[in-house]
Amino acid sequence: MALWFDPSEMLIGGTWVRAAETLTLENPSDGSHLADIARGQSREIDAAVAAAHQALAGDWGRMPAVERGRILARMGRLVLERVEDLAALEALDVGKPLRQARADAVALARYLEFYGGAADKVHGETIPYLDGYTVYTLRQPHGVTGHIVPWNYPMQIIGRSVGAALAMGNACVLKPAEEACLTALAFARIACDAGLPDGALNVVPGLGGEAGAALTAHPGIHHISFTGSIATGVLVQRAAAANVVPVTLELGGKSPQLVFDDADLDAALPFLVNAGIQNAGQTCSAASRILVQRGVHDEVVARMADRYRQLRVGPALDDLEVGPLISARQKDIVEGFLAQADGLTVAAQGKVTGTGGHYVAPTLLTGATPDHPLAQQEIFGPVQVVIPFDTEAEAVAIANGTDYGLVAGVWTRDGARQMRLARDLRAGQVFVNNYGAGGGVELPFGGIGKSGHGREKGFEALYGFSQLKTVAALHG
Ligand code: NDP
Repeated sequence: MALWFDPSEMLIGGTWVRAAETLTLENPSDGSHLADIARGQSREIDAAVAAAHQALAGDWGRMPAVERGRILARMGRLVLERVEDLAALEALDVGKPLRQARADAVALARYLEFYGGAADKVHGETIPYLDGYTVYTLRQPHGVTGHIVPWNYPMQIIGRSVGAALAMGNACVLKPAEEACLTALAFARIACDAGLPDGALNVVPGLGGEAGAALTAHPGIHHISFTGSIATGVLVQRAAAANVVPVTLELGGKSPQLVFDDADLDAALPFLVNAGIQNAGQTCSAASRILVQRGVHDEVVARMADRYRQLRVGPALDDLEVGPLISARQKDIVEGFLAQADGLTVAAQGKVTGTGGHYVAPTLLTGATPDHPLAQQEIFGPVQVVIPFDTEAEAVAIANGTDYGLVAGVWTRDGARQMRLARDLRAGQVFVNNYGAGGGVELPFGGIGKSGHGREKGFEALYGFSQLKTVAALHG
């Protein structure tokens, strides 16, 4: 596919800068060479942070919220005009089936629309206080925000983090993942076309240990937003601590869906499987554990297994249900987990039709005890484990029995049980008789425990990307 931009350039202070060195980007569907991308270093991160400071001191810093909102809305419209181009880029780069990439592009537009509309609707408040005082609060941007984005959902994660940060008037420095950065660069082109002032958004691709580490350790950064692994999240938080800046960490999960005997299984089935295999399971909120009450356990396994046997795995542009994993390294990680499946039964597998890419057959495993490593650790591949339970209390204990707490789904017709579980499940989002709620950009999202902290999406993100100032005026 011919690119409409040069992927070896970085956007710094409104100028497209060619990198001294490049990195090779691979097409995960067939291992072919996709593009040469910039290998940004600490020098470019320094320049990007300086440009962001300059933007804050200039037009961008003084721009009324309504104008910021209009620019974001324009960006959203341009994204919608280019949905097919962006979807094709994301499919090639990440390996996700075209229809999933298209949904991601539409979600990016939706984030920009939402945050564009919200930009002038985040207010401070007045506080009744002592006689003679007027007290009010101002919501102000942090200043320069750093955004470390992973490879699994580049467009969606850019939308929810950069979109919200810009809406609040921050100036952003974005470091996309070395394994998938094309749509981040396309997004930067769109921002320029929409009239975003120079320096309000800077994009520096490169290696995590170089550009990423330089960004998170930079003393000129005032807030860091990170999505990725726990190990890197700890490094990011440590770097932020050295500069005493806030961080938002979204670190994935081991999310359960709980299926009770009284569940509507016809409604549940598509959600049970799709939430495990979407994006080849490389999804922070993947439902990788399916907890099933004993009375319907065998039926649920049989019906999921039927579905698994129909799954086809192949190149992203073939638009099958499942594409390749992002890299040979990720395939090794997933196969390493499958090699530890001692004591588990392979109930069914999908069929790999693609060749030359990083393909793993979707695998449904049964017979797992809640403490089995495959029922505890994030696999980040198309693998689900089914765990039986007898009572509601047991289901809650198993669901809450990992280090993570990102998302949970509950399938039951019992209204009182729905309310109890919504209260008791240890997760940042609980879905009742659905899973994911269509991904709504309006819905706050984030984790508990090792899934991270801070909330993105919805209005919560706007609070996260701003700080509150209290003004107390004594006037008598
Ligand atoms: P990482 O957490 O290492 O990568 C996520 C992002 O962090 C990438 O942009 C990466 O850049 C960057 N990064 C890496 N090292 C540093 C650093 N020292 N300082 C600052 N930024 C850094 O995840 P991996 O890509 O290595 O994937 C490994 C595992 O992480 C997966 O198997 C999965 O379990 C989990 N993961 C979870 C995600 C989620 O959505 N929660 C998303 C991606 C991965 P670069 O890519 O250039 O190295």
